[in-house]
Amino acid sequence: MTDLTDLSLAQLRDALKAKDASSLDATEAYLSRIEKAGDLNAFITVAADKARAMAKASDEKLAKGKGGPLEGVPLGVKDLFCTEDVLTTAGSHILDGFEPKYESTVTRNLWRDGGVCLGKLNLDEFAMGSSNETSFYGPVVNPWRATGSDAKLTPGGSSGGSSASVAARLCAGATATDTGGSIRQPAAFTATVGVKPTYGRVSRWGVVAFASSLDQAGPVARDVRDAAIMLKSMAGHDPKDSTSVNVAVPDYEAALGASLKGLKIGVPKEYRVDGMPAEIETLWRSGVDWMKDAGCEIVDISLPMTKYALPVYYIVAPAEASSNLARYDGVKYGHRAEEYDDILSMYENTRAEGFGDEVKRRILIGTYVLSAGYYDAYYLRAQKVRKRIFDEFVSAFEKVDLILTPSAPSAAFELGAKTADPVQMYLNDVFTVTANLAGLPGASVPAGLDKDGLPLGLQLLAKPFAEETLFKGMYALEQAAGFDATPDEWWA
Ligand code: GLN
Repeated sequence: MTDLTDLSLAQLRDALKAKDASSLDATEAYLSRIEKAGDLNAFITVAADKARAMAKASDEKLAKGKGGPLEGVPLGVKDLFCTEDVLTTAGSHILDGFEPKYESTVTRNLWRDGGVCLGKLNLDEFAMGSSNETSFYGPVVNPWRATGSDAKLTPGGSSGGSSASVAARLCAGATATDTGGSIRQPAAFTATVGVKPTYGRVSRWGVVAFASSLDQAGPVARDVRDAAIMLKSMAGHDPKDSTSVNVAVPDYEAALGASLKGLKIGVPKEYRVDGMPAEIETLWRSGVDWMKDAGCEIVDISLPMTKYALPVYYIVAPAEASSNLARYDGVKYGHRAEEYDDILSMYENTRAEGFGDEVKRRILIGTYVLSAGYYDAYYLRAQKVRKRIFDEFVSAFEKVDLILTPSAPSAAFELGAKTADPVQMYLNDVFTVTANLAGLPGASVPAGLDKDGLPLGLQLLAKPFAEETLFKGMYALEQAAGFDATPDEWWA
């Protein structure tokens, strides 16, 4: 039998159901791969004992012909999801030693369906970043390298642990979150599939909050089918999240392979930036041809507000972050400074020690744009522009069913290349933040390699709650791209 870690999530699920494999064997196989992959720094916490116990429980169910849709499948969890009695750090020093007494709804759903928890995955601190370099636990390293080079590349961010662990086959699939692109950009950098669902599709309860009006959880997976299976389990209405929406969760896997005949694909001319490699433009054009060959009608569209998306995002997201992060004061969670004179200096010293530079920068920006003299000029204005961006998508989606764009303006870059200039780093999110601002579902699908042998992704965006259509389109892209490259295992 092939190595169990070679099987996709769907294949492993089927092998387990058919009793051709045991969950404990699969779990052990993943744990030993994780152990050898220390150089990738993808995991913050490996929950080996918990994983074995969950796997054994799954095997007992499977032996009786029982079990849920993910029964026995080993998964990784971005360390932004609270997991009961398992260290949850959000990649931050300020959450040192935090073991939640509750389970996030997303992870609870996955375990309800039989998933096995391998551990917690590295990420940018509080999910703020595009390269996984703001993590207190150090950067994650991309399993992919440029041809003929051993330079360490970023796996993208903030879900760098999720993307790297799926690409390196350290888990069958992973949870992730996307506030401005943190599922789709890492997926593009690692040749994995990442889906950011509609705002409200997946419960945010128990997910450490970054920017609550933008945050949304979704899967990073090896292929489109695996992503469909994971999202079905993660999604659903949750009374504990007042922004979660009570609409039925379709069987996304069943939508795969459906005909795309007559579907209209919008191609927005604004999704280009200066200095974007010609290969990305070429790949985008191939994507258009693939959709045409699949029976779609191509419609040129214009989304002129796109140029305001990044500035709007970098006002709204820090504003919400500065408010959400006020709770880390050394009283209720994690780290507390040892030296202080009074309660105020305890707060100050704790926050000064506990937060990294990028998080401090966001809190400063957020506090500034919300302050009395600047609120109207920045925050209120940004909210108005956000509404215009949303309206523009609403009109575009009167003409088209899906929108096709590149996922990111570059392939994975070297660690350290953009850390000195935050604006360069923020520019990475130029194609992804729009979906968060408008609350739309979006996904990145691996579509090709650049001249250095590095993966590139294409992004599809859909109407709110049209994830089934999104998956149909993703599957067609995947079939046409026929992407089957894998990284050399230099780390093992
Ligand atoms: N890179 C963006 C940021 O730094 C998005 C992060 C995310 O989606 N969590 O805010």
